[in-house]
Amino acid sequence: MEKAYVYWFFGLSGSGKSTLADALALRLKSLGEQVLRLDGDQMRAGINKDLGFSSQDRLENVRRAAEIAKLSLEQGISVVASFISPEDIHRRKVKEVLGAKVHLIFVDASIETCKLRDVKGLYQQQAQGNISSFTGVSAPFEKPMDASLRISTEESSVEACIDQIMKQWKEQNA
Ligand code: ADP
Repeated sequence: MEKAYVYWFFGLSGSGKSTLADALALRLKSLGEQVLRLDGDQMRAGINKDLGFSSQDRLENVRRAAEIAKLSLEQGISVVASFISPEDIHRRKVKEVLGAKVHLIFVDASIETCKLRDVKGLYQQQAQGNISSFTGVSAPFEKPMDASLRISTEESSVEACIDQIMKQWKEQNA
């Protein structure tokens, strides 16, 4: 239970949140930890179907996810979460719900890199006028003052990013 933590990845669409979260979940499982994986798209497909992309709805999106993470922690199960969480208020809410048990990890890649990657084709769709309130383009992304760790997916490989995360909280995982 004391060893269970929430690793909350946030950043632009295409910055690498899901990739890193999947890799971290695998790594923690290989060390014998129980892990719950929570993802923004997955939550929006089901439990958060009623929410849109206003700042207020995004706040509710992360609040519900943080509350689920809290329930998981109470069962001694760590959580690896990937949510854009674009504004300070969104990250503050996550902190408010989870306190010292959450590690906020800023997944940093420039908007140009994210556009080039365009993993889900969303930047192209946005450019064609099919998406409104798109983070980093037509909706705000506030560079964080409040992250526990910043990871650049432009500078490091996935493995190196995971090593950096594991090193940061080594004592906790010992
Ligand atoms: P997000 O979940 O933030 O929308 P994804 O993880 O779906 O982003 O996509 C990130 C893309 O960037 C993937 O195609 C991934 O292979 C690539 N990528 C390149 N280097 C890295 C890295 N160091 N960490 C994470 N993703 C990376």
